[in-house]
Amino acid sequence: TALEQITRRVFNFSIPLVQVNDKMQSLELFHGPTFAFKDIGAKFLAECLAYFNTSNHQETTVLVATSGDTGGAVANGFLGVEGVRVIILYPKGKVSELQEKQLTTLGQNIIALEVEGNFDDCQNLVKRAFADQDLNEEMQLSSANSINIARWLPQSLFYYVPLQHSLKDMILSVPSGNYGNLTSGVLAMKMGVPIKRFIAASNTNDVVPRYLISNKYEPKPTIPTIANAMDVSDPSNFKRLQSLFDGDYQTIKKFIEPFSMDDSGIRSTIRKCKYDNGYLLDPHSAIAYAALLKSGENGVFLGTAHHCKFLPVMEESLGEEVPIPDFAKDLMKKEKKSIEMNTDYESFKEFLITK
Ligand SMILES: *Cc1c(COP(=O)(O)O)cnc(C)c1O
Repeated sequence: TALEQITRRVFNFSIPLVQVNDKMQSLELFHGPTFAFKDIGAKFLAECLAYFNTSNHQETTVLVATSGDTGGAVANGFLGVEGVRVIILYPKGKVSELQEKQLTTLGQNIIALEVEGNFDDCQNLVKRAFADQDLNEEMQLSSANSINIARWLPQSLFYYVPLQHSLKDMILSVPSGNYGNLTSGVLAMKMGVPIKRFIAASNTNDVVPRYLISNKYEPKPTIPTIANAMDVSDPSNFKRLQSLFDGDYQTIKKFIEPFSMDDSGIRSTIRKCKYDNGYLLDPHSAIAYAALLKSGENGVFLGTAHHCKFLPVMEESLGEEVPIPDFAKDLMKKEKKSIEMNTDYESFKEFLITK
């Protein structure tokens, strides 16, 4: 069937379960084209859009604002997809060098806009475009952010991998920001995967851990952290997560354990895990590792990104140089192509219409 073919094209790399120490294993989700788990959802979305788009003769413009990880995965997923052009907005000087190369070197139907501002400025331009009536009459706009359910639905399959290794009744520690990954895990549990409990491992943007402790959902302004793909203060998947438990606080609490960690904790975890196990954690996976370690139980944590995407943080944490792996070196040699833009909406709109 078409769905089978799509799934096969999406899951075309390995997802190893790596023993980190005698109690813990890392489910490494970062062996895809942009070295982060978001490759799966982004490619699935692109393939679905291409499938449903065949009868439509108008070009679709996908707009995506990124703080680093999402943009690369979406760009790769949509690369060469007919009838779709992708416009990525990223904040100038605020993504790592490797991430920037992933956004700006693809060419073809992928255009990178380097915005003189921060992530919120990028997101605001995108939001205004979606709300702009004349623009939407002029062109067909689409979003690729993780409020789109196709972005996380296929991630349920991740949670079957430990089962293939005969691990049952596991504890799973999930680095969480917008809570797509954890929600897809709960869906897998509901579909029958034997999971004992999840840990919601967050950075200082800890609205969900605080909810799990107090039964009060109280978003605060977003705080920038070194695990920046998880800098989300009001996760759009929280309501979905809640409704998978029929909104019952006691059940949610039984299946999801809270954990949060600040930047200095992340740095010392990266250092200590390398010292104890010879294993390199990226800043996001480090939080999940620390959470599982604290629980004292055997289990699996999700490795959501390869550490080479965050070299400056790695070197700062370890106090030593960290070499770029060979597979990333070619990318670093490619030439960056971006279009600089300020935060003025009218010039962004003009760009969309005329380019
Ligand atoms: C996006 C991201 C996360 C958070 O995943 P959610 O589904 O948004 O909770 C964690 N780690 C990395 C590396 C990411 O890119």
